[in-house]
Amino acid sequence: MQTEFSERNIFLDGDDESVNLPIKVERLFEDQLQNWKLAFDGYQSLTKVQKKLFEFDDFSIEAHYNPGRIISSSAKVDAKSINERPCFLCVKNLPADQKAIKVIGNYILLVNPFPIFHKHFTIPTTKHVPQLIKQEFENLLLISSKIGSGFSVFYNGPKCGASAPDHLHFQAGNYGFMNIDNEYENILNKYGEIVYSDGELITSVVTGCLRNFITVESNDISKLKSEFEKIYNVLGGDKTAEEPMLNVISTYNNSWRVLIFPRTKHRPSYFFGEGKNKILISPAAVDLGGVLIFPREEDFDKITIQLVVDIFKQVTFTNEEFRNISDKLKIR
Ligand SMILES: [Zn+2]
Repeated sequence: MQTEFSERNIFLDGDDESVNLPIKVERLFEDQLQNWKLAFDGYQSLTKVQKKLFEFDDFSIEAHYNPGRIISSSAKVDAKSINERPCFLCVKNLPADQKAIKVIGNYILLVNPFPIFHKHFTIPTTKHVPQLIKQEFENLLLISSKIGSGFSVFYNGPKCGASAPDHLHFQAGNYGFMNIDNEYENILNKYGEIVYSDGELITSVVTGCLRNFITVESNDISKLKSEFEKIYNVLGGDKTAEEPMLNVISTYNNSWRVLIFPRTKHRPSYFFGEGKNKILISPAAVDLGGVLIFPREEDFDKITIQLVVDIFKQVTFTNEEFRNISDKLKIR
């Protein structure tokens, strides 16, 4: 079939179906670091990331000063700006040295040259279609199981941190990097409440650990799909044409664990501050996962535990609002 790929072969040699995805992912990563300077420099720069750790009751939040993320964090995502820029996820606009591997369906996997994770990938479709999760949730799960337990696969809604809201994509990063990866069990024990369980699927709400969220665990993909629809609708997805604001993190280790972070705001007030009052932060899945990314040093220097609390408070539901959501999730 002739596609836009005929313009140049973006696929890494040896991208054959018989090789497992995690192996191909490692090969792509190694190849790109050897043959693409931008990627090499990007991952080199991770060694200079400065960190602050904020400890709470049974969980922690890290702040990272990562200057490589300036473009993504400050991305203009209004319709006019989006229309006026060439889409950086469309195959025809990819840098000459960038290679890809096929994942499933139209999804391809690319090394992210401006990383947060030690291994950070972008997983766009080859079609330029808007960033929307509803019809793509199953693909998120399939990608998650195919890439395996070494990676978290995540989704940022078009108004929740996606820097390309006009081009459907997921991302993946090495598992264990986000604080929530390793704190999940403790968080669930202390702050979680099961709102639904049928023996094969468990849905819990997690309230009181700075960002209230919903988690679903199951190894049954069709049950996960219908449970996600239920949650989507409870968050208001059945009432408007627009997607409810959310971030999703999926991990797979014999079964899926899906964390859904409902959002109330795209960016906190600090983002819009002037001069010294500005803090450039644009929370997305990684931030909700416990790693707040600051691309400017002056902002990182200012960060205190109070600011961390307030940033989360501003972009997620209050405990009271969240109780409303969990009450609705209990009705079956
Ligand atoms: Zn595009």
